[in-house]
Amino acid sequence: RPSIVWFRRDLRLGDLPTLSAAAAESDVAAAVFVLDDRLAARGPRRDMMLGCLRALDEQLGGRLIVVRGDPTVQIPALARELEAATVHVSADFTPYGRSRDRLVEQELGDVPLIRTGSPYAVAPGRVVKGDGTAYRVFRPFQRAWHEHGWRAPARTDAETVGWLDAAVRARVEIPRPDAAPLIAAGETAALTRWHEFIAADLADYADGRDRPDLDQTSRLSAYLKFGCIHPRTLLYDLRTRADDGAAKYRSELCWREFYADVLHQRPETAYRNQDARFDAMPYDDGPSADDAFDAWCRGRTGYPIVDAGMRQLTAEGWMHNRVRMIVASFLTKDLHLPWWWGARHFMDRLIDGDLASNQHGWQWVAGCGTDAAPYFRVFNPTVQGEKFDPDGDYVRRWVPELRGVAGRRVHRLPDGPPSDYPQPIVDHAVERREALDRYSEITAKR
Ligand code: FAD
Repeated sequence: RPSIVWFRRDLRLGDLPTLSAAAAESDVAAAVFVLDDRLAARGPRRDMMLGCLRALDEQLGGRLIVVRGDPTVQIPALARELEAATVHVSADFTPYGRSRDRLVEQELGDVPLIRTGSPYAVAPGRVVKGDGTAYRVFRPFQRAWHEHGWRAPARTDAETVGWLDAAVRARVEIPRPDAAPLIAAGETAALTRWHEFIAADLADYADGRDRPDLDQTSRLSAYLKFGCIHPRTLLYDLRTRADDGAAKYRSELCWREFYADVLHQRPETAYRNQDARFDAMPYDDGPSADDAFDAWCRGRTGYPIVDAGMRQLTAEGWMHNRVRMIVASFLTKDLHLPWWWGARHFMDRLIDGDLASNQHGWQWVAGCGTDAAPYFRVFNPTVQGEKFDPDGDYVRRWVPELRGVAGRRVHRLPDGPPSDYPQPIVDHAVERREALDRYSEITAKR
């Protein structure tokens, strides 16, 4: 009897423990993907996913069996139709993924759902304090994560199983993306990007990663999101490097693991403030709040670094991490809007949009998240621009109206904005004080 390898966030064939598990058990396997409309039903992330599916299908010689619908119905139906002995997956730790898998397991009856590996170097929930409780702060988690260590990449070989080319009833063609994926999709593209990054930018990563103008980060986030490459592979390649770049890169990967762990331990934090004091935070609302939000989304706030970031997001489905922090701070502390408005907009646009990293990245900036980062550290968008885009190149790249303004002056516009660029929609100094007042209000209530 064949086994089923059900692909989800692991759209690759190398370093895929699920495949080893399936191969150990059966010579024949069906490679399956379920198009679940509840996840990324449209937009750039779906286009990226479809691109990755096409790439995977090509690697499998056209034998990826794609079905559409509710996985809790489709997977058990497929298992019955193929008379499968087992269904293999890598574990999903998102709130939706966990409940879906529990249901699938029930519906499968006698056919076991076997979870091998996860999208993380260390599966969420594994790194705990001595007393068995979860870490709530990054640095101690990071130390423990390091000490825990991770496995070497799995040596998987897609040829060890015969891939079934079954004409199953529900099989559909892989839909064409609405638009071409914003970056090259799939495992080969991910590996190529990783090797380019190691050769060109890793050595300078510790300093360069904060500079949006230099664009020296790896841009692997969307590949990690869809599992075109596994963090284990990256950590393994870094193991022999003792430089600051490698150490910093490992640390950034650890943030991804930390946020997945937090979401696993406290699933409610996807949509609720981790720091409950913030439940009482007064936000702006009404038409002026809607207008401010709209200006932020469109990159028309009159703060050049904010607008550059928001336009990069629209154009590339990606934004530099430093600028994500700046625009998130601006939304929550200058415009006094709820972090989840911004988080939702990011999730609609990002090709790397990931519930754990996004919601907790937002909460971290908003001050209600996992960190000791004090709320009163409010980013000044002008100073941030001057510091991290010192020659103004990033702003000019994304805001064509400002291309005539030379050098770092582009951040302050001392001669006023050009006629086609807005005046600042708020005064940062005033809104900073307002944000601090609102914060004092909610903290004084306790
Ligand atoms: P690199 O600098 O090359 O980092 C390598 C990898 O480390 C990244 O691909 C990512 O997987 C991980 N990483 C780096 N920084 C972080 C971080 N702060 N938190 C978690 N993981 C990190 N990342 C997402 O993958 N998806 C999101 O939806 C997302 N939303 C964010 C929202 C906000 C408000 C903020 C401040 C950050 C968010 N991040 C998110 C984290 C980070 O901005 C991106 O991972 C990073 O910009 C991706 O680019 P890169 O691959 O070139 O990063």
